[in-house]
Amino acid sequence: MTLLEARSLVAGYGDSRAISDISLSLDEGELVAFVGANGAGKSTLLRVLAGAHSPTSGSVIYKDQDVTRLRDFARNRLGISLVPEGRRLFASLTVRENLIVGAGSRRSGPWNVETVLDALPMLGPILNRNASRLSGGQQQAVAIGRSLMSNPEVLLLDEVSLGLAPIVIDELYVSLEGVRKTGLGIILVEQDLSRTIAVADRIICMLEGHVVLEGTPGQLTHEQITDAYFGHS
Ligand code: ATP
Repeated sequence: MTLLEARSLVAGYGDSRAISDISLSLDEGELVAFVGANGAGKSTLLRVLAGAHSPTSGSVIYKDQDVTRLRDFARNRLGISLVPEGRRLFASLTVRENLIVGAGSRRSGPWNVETVLDALPMLGPILNRNASRLSGGQQQAVAIGRSLMSNPEVLLLDEVSLGLAPIVIDELYVSLEGVRKTGLGIILVEQDLSRTIAVADRIICMLEGHVVLEGTPGQLTHEQITDAYFGHS
């Protein structure tokens, strides 16, 4: 079943355009990865899908409902959750408290503190630690766990690996694989091409706000993706 659809999205900041005519669809249990150089428009697209930034034109359809005019909190209540770049935890709260904050506008579903800990075992030993005392990888795990607590059906993840050690990234991706198996649709933005090729069902390359290449990891070579990434034809 199609969970999320974008139709001809255009968005920008003032007079400058960040994304142009982006369309996509995401099915249950599917993982779609967006790659592209800095400034390609990936974060803007995620923010438009999440309702954190309004498009100039185009629409966002979630489970057959047009949600284009709904703000982020309203979309979150329907089941769309964004894990933003930079993680944005509450530094003065513990890990457990940060997770519970994520359950604010909670829908019913399988996710609670216990199931989040099963999916993200690295959080177990640090549940009562203050968020200001976490490593980058731990912060990212809390940010993902916090999103899961709202029981989303679509998870939007911006730059999961940014600044993290490869061993920590491996662990987070194992967790995401488990999360995807529960039927969530996942859209992620990732700089690491090898990892993207390893996990994604579909890869979409963006350049200067446009989609320039799209396919399954089986259809695309590393070289094709790199060329699209840097705008070589
Ligand atoms: P990055 O990996 O650097 O986050 P990105 O592919 O996610 O890059 P965006 O962050 O979406 O790209 O940026 C797309 C374009 O929009 C860039 O030209 C950027 O400078 C511009 N932009 C992004 N955020 C803002 C903002 N808040 N105000 C003005 N321009 C912005």
